[in-house]
Amino acid sequence: MENKLKIYNTLSRKKELFQPINPPHVGMYVCGPTVYGDAHLGHARPGITFDIVFRYLRHLGYKVRYVRNITDVGHLVNDADAGEDKIQKKARLEQLEPMEVVKFYTDRYHENMQQLNTLPPSIEPTASGHIIEQIELVKKILKNGYAYESDGSLYFDVEKYNKDYKYGKLSGRRIEELMQNTRELAGQEEKHNAFDFALWKKADPKHIMHWPSPWSEGYPGWHLECSAMGAKYLGETFDIHGGGMDLLFPHHESEIAQANAATGHDPVKYWMHNNMITINGQKMGKSLNNFITLNEFFSGKHKALDQAYNPMTIRFFILQAHYRSTLDFSTDAMKAAEKGMHKLFDAFYLLDELKPSEKSSVDIKAIEAKCYDAMNDDFNTPMVIAHLFDLAHILNQVDSGTESLTKADIEETKAFFSTFLFDLLGLKDEKEKDDSELIDYLMKTILGIRQEAKTKKDYATSDLIRDELAKMNIQIKDTKEGAKWSFK
Ligand code: ZN
Repeated sequence: MENKLKIYNTLSRKKELFQPINPPHVGMYVCGPTVYGDAHLGHARPGITFDIVFRYLRHLGYKVRYVRNITDVGHLVNDADAGEDKIQKKARLEQLEPMEVVKFYTDRYHENMQQLNTLPPSIEPTASGHIIEQIELVKKILKNGYAYESDGSLYFDVEKYNKDYKYGKLSGRRIEELMQNTRELAGQEEKHNAFDFALWKKADPKHIMHWPSPWSEGYPGWHLECSAMGAKYLGETFDIHGGGMDLLFPHHESEIAQANAATGHDPVKYWMHNNMITINGQKMGKSLNNFITLNEFFSGKHKALDQAYNPMTIRFFILQAHYRSTLDFSTDAMKAAEKGMHKLFDAFYLLDELKPSEKSSVDIKAIEAKCYDAMNDDFNTPMVIAHLFDLAHILNQVDSGTESLTKADIEETKAFFSTFLFDLLGLKDEKEKDDSELIDYLMKTILGIRQEAKTKKDYATSDLIRDELAKMNIQIKDTKEGAKWSFK
């Protein structure tokens, strides 16, 4: 397999030629959401970024095992191993069983990811389903001397680890700096050092989600689940680990430390991090009041939005920036994205109407090669989109007669345009959605006519409508709220 793909590796801080450990197999782990609230724009970015990686690696012929976890336990409100579990807090506030919160938001997350046309991962393990693996990992770390027990809780001994392995290789943070910056140990007296992180926490009596372990009835620390599940499904060393830049420290740094402490070697060859999305130049956050969920985008129901935005517009908007750049949201940028995307769709449909010429005035293969070069350059989707805009411009010129393409070149263009637009960028024309809206509208109209007939006691007409719809497997049910329809 000829391979020109270069990936920026956060670990080496440079672009490296992608050489999987065990080709054609590729293992990719991406940190998934903590399911205690609706997904927002910040979730869409890693969802789409690693969907692009997944799609392109498969396109190149790799057999990719894509693991994305669901965090349903152990994430505390305060990341410094203190405070209440986020899911538990939500459950308490809404008087639900924690697993009801988990199921509800997992389903909504899946729905949002599907609306954004991201492919489902190959495996989607949950933290609560891998408590045994996490306990086994803690045992190994403890046995190797890099953890200590303190009143039923276990902590990772960062100082000891740093002596044998270098701590901070991913984030570039040095333990000396951490020591200076984290002198405070208030409320964390169990730890030897403030920067030690929990591997296992003894549950206080109010904590609802807890499991038995050799040390205490408790729950796993924040960073443990990804180490345990990554190793279980992808092996002790695998190819790609991804996530948002906000996870780089301490989460991913701790994963590296845990793996080395347990196995003596690094867990991941290529670390990839997507950058953050800002809103009108500001960081997005609940406290900043600029926190917009994906469902709010799709419905337009948020005071910062002037209209509803189609999921594909959001996808295109995200792909117009390189995943390592920050991306600033504004309604103007979103409108420009919507317009731009339709320009590409229109150009693609125009291909069916072009009149072929004897000779081509444009080198189509060169444009195709440029698109591949852009993808191979660390998944440079904005560059791919720029080349597709150039192509759209050329196709319009062919249509007006200032440029020309042969029949074979038109076919070739159709094939690679479709590959990039639909298969690799994962865009979808909303026509399908429009169809379902149209059906809804037509059915409402038909049921309205039927209701009118019934009111006038014209049962022949109302029965005729019912029987005719039945032929198309459409079932009508009369309920107190009026007639409802469904496919049989
Ligand atoms: Zn993770």
